[in-house]
Amino acid sequence: MDDIFSKDKQPEDFQTQNIRPSGFDDYVGQSKVKENLKVFVQAAKKRGQSLDHCLFHGPPGLGKTTLANIIAHEMGVNINSTSGPVIERAGDLAALLTNLQEGDVLFIDEIHRLHSNVEEILYPAMEDYKLDILIGQGPAARTVKIDLPPFTLVGATTRAGLLTSPLRDRFGMILKLEFYGIEELTSIILRGAGILETEIEDAAAREIASRSRGTPRIAHRILRRIRDFADVLNNGFVSKDIACEGLSRLEIDREGLDNSDRALLLSIIEKYDGGPVGVDTLAATLSEERDTIEDVIEPYLIYRGFIKKTPRGRMATGMAYEHLRLNAPNRIS
Ligand code: ADP
Repeated sequence: MDDIFSKDKQPEDFQTQNIRPSGFDDYVGQSKVKENLKVFVQAAKKRGQSLDHCLFHGPPGLGKTTLANIIAHEMGVNINSTSGPVIERAGDLAALLTNLQEGDVLFIDEIHRLHSNVEEILYPAMEDYKLDILIGQGPAARTVKIDLPPFTLVGATTRAGLLTSPLRDRFGMILKLEFYGIEELTSIILRGAGILETEIEDAAAREIASRSRGTPRIAHRILRRIRDFADVLNNGFVSKDIACEGLSRLEIDREGLDNSDRALLLSIIEKYDGGPVGVDTLAATLSEERDTIEDVIEPYLIYRGFIKKTPRGRMATGMAYEHLRLNAPNRIS
């Protein structure tokens, strides 16, 4: 899938430390989640306690990692970040947990991909701040109990549905992040351009915003690419014309869809007669990973109403036919 839309973090994404908002005040949008979190953080600080464990879910690039960092910043504690698939053995998690100071945040990205033997260690740690680990093998094996300092686990997942219920039940807050509106993305782009010291026209920021799939990470990636076009073709000034020129060279259409999105829609329409078609069949047809389709491509297409999910598979909607300038059969609404 195209770099700009890829869910995998790219080297440039790591250079965005100063673009990443550090406090609630710089964090644009997600007002419901943000206002609630502000109250929970304030209450925990007032009581001198650690914040309750918290789970963020939603498509990639919407600001889950950013919120975990903001929580740590606003609570005045350290954050230790890791990712579900990286923690291979129970001992790896034990090492992370025993290194925490009182009140610290442990951030686990892709928490739905934790190995089950690791996940089990997390239950008593989250509930009672206790670690039960088995040392040794066979008859000599014994369980060691270690007290942990109170800490906050912040989990992030693109698929809340894949979390086991014992794990989900141990989070005090489960917060869903939504796609961003054009106004919000416009201000994220203007803020980003300011940090990158790039001069940009408001109309250009709006144009990029409207084609960023409701996602701040994509908005930032497109902004960096358009800045390249502006540097080479327009003395560094991002005008609306340069933005449109760059977006069309990147093959991002007026609805913010790229080649992978269009290929998926076309595949459902042309190969499977508009659907329904199962996600595994689609993945095989498009030579994409099933996860890429479910986590990255499909959520935005469903959100915008280009496809719908039915018990028998995915179907293209009338809007998809219209967008691709194809005639929809009568049965498709
Ligand atoms: P996720 O963890 O959900 O995949 P991140 O927190 O890594 O997403 O955010 C991706 C990028 O988007 C980061 O560079 C971050 O700075 C930016 N970003 C995310 N949410 C916001 C926001 N609400 N306001 C401004 N920038 C944001």
